[in-house]
Amino acid sequence: MNWDRTYHITTFGCQMNEHDSETIAGMLSEMGFTESLERDRADVVIINTCSVRENADKRFFGTLGQLKHLKKENPDFTVCVCGCMMQQQHIIDSIKTKYPWVDIIFGTHNIHQFPQLLSSVLTEKEKIVNVWEDGGEIVEGLPAKRLYKHKSFVNIMYGCNNFCTYCIVPYTRGRERSRKPEDILDEVKRLVADGVREVTLLGQNVNSYQGDGQTDFADLIYRLNEVEGLERIRFMTSHPKDLSDKLIQAYVDCGKLCDYIHLPVQSGSSRVLKRMNRRYTRESYLQLIQKLKKAVPGITISTDIIVGFPGETEEDFQETLDLVRQVEYDSAFTFLYSIRKGTPAEKYEDQIPENVKHQRFNRLVELVNSISAKKNAAYVGKIEKVLVEGPSKTSSQTYTGRTEGFKLINFPAGPELTGKLVDVEVTEGKTFSLEGRIAKL
Ligand code: SF4
Repeated sequence: MNWDRTYHITTFGCQMNEHDSETIAGMLSEMGFTESLERDRADVVIINTCSVRENADKRFFGTLGQLKHLKKENPDFTVCVCGCMMQQQHIIDSIKTKYPWVDIIFGTHNIHQFPQLLSSVLTEKEKIVNVWEDGGEIVEGLPAKRLYKHKSFVNIMYGCNNFCTYCIVPYTRGRERSRKPEDILDEVKRLVADGVREVTLLGQNVNSYQGDGQTDFADLIYRLNEVEGLERIRFMTSHPKDLSDKLIQAYVDCGKLCDYIHLPVQSGSSRVLKRMNRRYTRESYLQLIQKLKKAVPGITISTDIIVGFPGETEEDFQETLDLVRQVEYDSAFTFLYSIRKGTPAEKYEDQIPENVKHQRFNRLVELVNSISAKKNAAYVGKIEKVLVEGPSKTSSQTYTGRTEGFKLINFPAGPELTGKLVDVEVTEGKTFSLEGRIAKL
C-alpha cells in the first residue's frame, strides 16, 4: 500500500541512533511517505530515543508531552517511539500509563518491522508494543535515506559485550554481532556508486569486529581501502583495550583511512577506570597514544571523559587533568556522570555531590578548550584536504566541511564544490573550528 502521508523523525543520542533514523526514513520513503520538516504538521511522528545521557531522557519525555494536544486535535496523528530507552521495561510501563497517546513502541532490535507495525496501526487503529529482547539474525538490505549525499554511516556491528559499569548500552543494544565483510563491502560499493566519498564505520566497539571468523577490523579496513571511488574511511567507536598494532599499521598502509581517532578514555585514574570496568589502565592508554602518535605523525585524537564517577577523588580528577595535558586532545566530549538505572554503578554508594561534579566539569572543559584552541591555532597557514559538505547554517556564501583530521572548517565557496575534496588554506584557528579559503595551488 502506498501511503500518501508525511512523517517527521526526532533523533536523540549517538551516530548509531542517527543511522537507525536514516533507515526508518528510508523505509517510510518506500511506503510512500514524504518528510515534513515541521514536526507539528506531520501525520506520523517518530521519536528515536537514547538512554545513555540523562539529558536525552528528559528531552524525550518533554517532547512526548508536547505531542498530547496534537493527538487531541487530530486522532489520526500517529506517535511512534523507538530506540534504546524502549529496551527498558520501566520506560515502556511509564509511557503506557502517563503518555497514552503513543501509538507504537518498538525497540532497537526490530527496526526492520516498523513498516509492518505502522501499517497495522494505520489500518486497524490499534496500539502496538513490540520490543524484541535480543537481536536475532542481522537483517540486511534495509533502505536508508541519507542525511548527506557524499558521506555515509555504515554499521559494521551491533551491540556491546563490555559492560562498563556506568553504561546501559549492553542491556539495550544486546551482545556484539558483526555483519559479514561481503555485506559491508557490497553496501559501501553501492554507496560509492550513489555518490558517497566518505564512509564512517559504526559500532559500539569496532575493534572487536569479527566478520566471518577470519576478517578482523584491520582486515576490513584493508579491504575497504581497495574500493575504487571511495576516498575516505573513518570509524567510531574504538575501545582502547582492543586497539591492535595491526590497526595502527593499517593507518600507515591504507591511504584512505583518515588520520583521526576517537579513543574514549573516560578517566585518567587507573583506580576509577577499574571501577568503571574499562579494562585498561592510565599507563596502557598513554602507551597506546604514544604508539599512535609515533606511527601516524599529526594524527588528530578526540575522546570522551566522564566527570564525577562514584568515588572519584580530587586526586583521581587531577590525574584526568594531567592525562588530558599529556595527550593534548584535539577535542573532547565531556560528560557529568549521571546514574543510569539498571547499571552496576547505580548501586555504588559513594556518589559525588552535584556541586563538586559541576566544579570539576568546568575545570576540565576550560582545560580541554584551551588545548583545542592552541592546537587549532597551529593550523594557520596549513593546506588541508577538505570534503565539502555544503553551505554553513549561518550563510549561503560560506561553505563547511571536514579536514582529514575531522576538524570543522568554514570557507567562502559556491555550490559547485559540494561533495568535492578541495584544498583549503587555514586562515584562523578557533576553539571549535577552523576558518579558511580555497587554496591557490
Ligand atoms: S564499551 Fe562500555 S561505554 Fe561503550 S557501549 Fe560498551 S559498555 Fe557502553
